Amino acid sequence: MAENTDPFWGAVASFGVEQVFVLPEWIQQKVQNNSVSSIGVKGDMEALRKEIAGCMKCPLGATRKSIVFGEGNSESGILFVGEGPGANEDETGRPFVGRSGKLLDKIFASIELDRSKLFIANIVKCRPPNNRTPSSEEAEICGRYLERQIEIMKPGVIVALGASAARTLLGTRKGIGLLRGDFHRYMDTPVMVTYHPAALLRSPALKRPVWEDMKKLKSFMEQTGLPRSEGETNG
Ligand code: URA
Repeated sequence: MAENTDPFWGAVASFGVEQVFVLPEWIQQKVQNNSVSSIGVKGDMEALRKEIAGCMKCPLGATRKSIVFGEGNSESGILFVGEGPGANEDETGRPFVGRSGKLLDKIFASIELDRSKLFIANIVKCRPPNNRTPSSEEAEICGRYLERQIEIMKPGVIVALGASAARTLLGTRKGIGLLRGDFHRYMDTPVMVTYHPAALLRSPALKRPVWEDMKKLKSFMEQTGLPRSEGETNG
C-alpha cells in the first residue's frame, strides 16, 4: 500500500486490508430471499422531512436552530446513524459536518465510500444543549422518526456510530466495547456497531478497531450487493 500521511490512514495503513468475512447464516438467508426495491424511497423520505418540520414533540425543539433530518442517498441501502447534531450541524441543518464529520468522511473513504453512496441520520434530529447525550425520553420520541426513515429506506445494513445509536437501535444497555465489531439485528436488518468518530478524536487508539469494523462492513457490502443505487443524493 502506498504511504499515506492522512491522519486516519496514517494510523491504520499498517493493519492490512485483506479480510474474508463469512456472513452469519441468518444474513445469508436474507440475501438469498430478498429482492428489496428502492422505488419510491426518495419521495417518501421528502414527505417525512416535510411532515416533521417544526416538530416540538420533545424539549429539544425549544433550543434547536435547525432540524437535522439526515442526508445522502436513501436508495443506497446503507444507513449510518449517529447520536445527535452538534453546533455545526445545528447551524447548517446537515449531519456530521464538524470535526467528527471530517473524520467520518475519511472513514468512508477508507472503504471507498462517500456520502453520495449512503444515507446519514441521527437518533435525535435536534441538538441537545451543550452536546449532552440525548435523554432516553428524547431518544424514544425522536427515534420514531428514525424508525420511519428505516421503514422507508429498508436498508441492507445499518451502521450504528457509538453507544447511543447502538443502544437505542438494539434496545440494550450493553457497552460499546461489547457491541462493536459484530452484526446485530434491528428488526430484520443487520446492524454493525462501531465507535463514534468523536471517540476516535479523543482516543486515536480506537482507529484500529474501527478499521477492523470497516473491513468487515466492506466485505459484507460486497457479498450483499451494496450500495444498491449509485443515484443522486437527496435529503
Ligand atoms: N455527532 C453526531 O452524532 N451526529 C452528528 O450529526 C454530528 C456529530
